[in-house]
Amino acid sequence: MEDTPQQIGRYRIERLLGSGSMGHVYLARDADLDRPVAIKTLRDVDLDEETRAVFLSRFQNEAKAAARLQHPNIVQIFDVGDDPKHGPYLVFEYVPGHTLKQQLRKKGPLPKEQLLVVAQQIADALTTAHMAGVIHRDLKPENLLITENGQLKLADFGIARVPNANLTKEGQFLGTPCYAAPETLLKGEYSEKTDLFSFGAVVYEAASGERAFPGAEAMVVAQNVMYNDPTPPSEVNRGAAIPPQVDQVIMRALCKDPDGRFASARTLVSSLREAYAGKRPKKPARQRRSFPMIMLLLVGAALAAWALLGNDVKTPSAGIDAGTDAGADAGADAGTDAGADAGPGTEILTPHEREEAAKDELARARKALQDGDIAAAEAALDRATQYDPSNPDIEALRSEVGASVGAVGRDKLPPKASGP
Ligand code: ADP
Ligand code: MG
Repeated sequence: MEDTPQQIGRYRIERLLGSGSMGHVYLARDADLDRPVAIKTLRDVDLDEETRAVFLSRFQNEAKAAARLQHPNIVQIFDVGDDPKHGPYLVFEYVPGHTLKQQLRKKGPLPKEQLLVVAQQIADALTTAHMAGVIHRDLKPENLLITENGQLKLADFGIARVPNANLTKEGQFLGTPCYAAPETLLKGEYSEKTDLFSFGAVVYEAASGERAFPGAEAMVVAQNVMYNDPTPPSEVNRGAAIPPQVDQVIMRALCKDPDGRFASARTLVSSLREAYAGKRPKKPARQRRSFPMIMLLLVGAALAAWALLGNDVKTPSAGIDAGTDAGADAGADAGTDAGADAGPGTEILTPHEREEAAKDELARARKALQDGDIAAAEAALDRATQYDPSNPDIEALRSEVGASVGAVGRDKLPPKASGP
């Protein structure tokens, strides 16, 4: 990894906060205004000109989308610049805390009260964006920042669609497949309803601790998103005691047919609140399971485009323009799959996402070991290895699992006393 820069523009860099598909986000100090800021830069590795143009257009897109939106639940943009040494950068308000993804990994599913607070804030952010004509298109736990006192901020408008943008090339896939709506994968369509589907997938994960559409293979995830209802959240995590009414609300949010979903983000949350209070959802939507033949044909094309996008960001012509100026039209958007490793055929995750997925599996393996469930621990370790064989914690944990088995024998491990 590159060294952390010391200074970008007038901002003094303090430390790395996070890395995404496009670049790094640093904590920095704005000495003039005496406040901390978060600075997003482009990843400075081996960027050929085309890829750089793609990323630049995404940057401009993000700046414009964020600048349109002012809301306490949306990360505010302060500044943009181009540093002679470190290139273009965006300056955002600094959100101290962690992402929803980190929180779920560390602490497991959110308790009901916290889930409702988080969901309400996501809904408020989405409503603001939608009212301004902005479709986020990449709503997922790693793009939701949560401060220490529980305030949530929606971040990463890198592939957002802003009104009047030069973004007419619908029909292609952007974003993260695990949270994408079926019509996005089928037809490259994005709308408020597709953001609401992603919202449903986030609520599913926040309530159960598991992804609604798990898996590392494009075909499997896509097939499930497009044609199969997820396992009800209450079944994937029985310990979370999710009431059946809540299952129904979440499943409705994940309805294959956009018309079967909730009408707005706020309706989704009010229904969730009522469901937790024991009220029956008014009218559960019928899930439309079959799509016309023409859509089936489109699947192949969508997946092909997706594989191209996901596996090789250096083919910008296969992507979508994320720029908002005709002049800055780089012709492609790398989505969050930028830089994805081609991997074994149909892998869909970026290297960064794979590292993160491996960490998720490691957390699962640790928990399973703690519970004395050796088979589950080993399965999680196998998945972690598939995601990121270079993660040194995998071998360490494997040895621990091995030691546990050696000590008492397989299948005989009692669950360790669980903590508070
Ligand atoms: P990318 O487009 O590369 O995914 P993001 O905007 O999602 O970039 O940022 C990547 C990561 O950096 C986030 O997941 C988060 O951990 C951290 N981050 C981003 N913005 C901020 C911010 N304003 N304050 C604190 N951390 C942030
Ligand atoms: Mg991101």
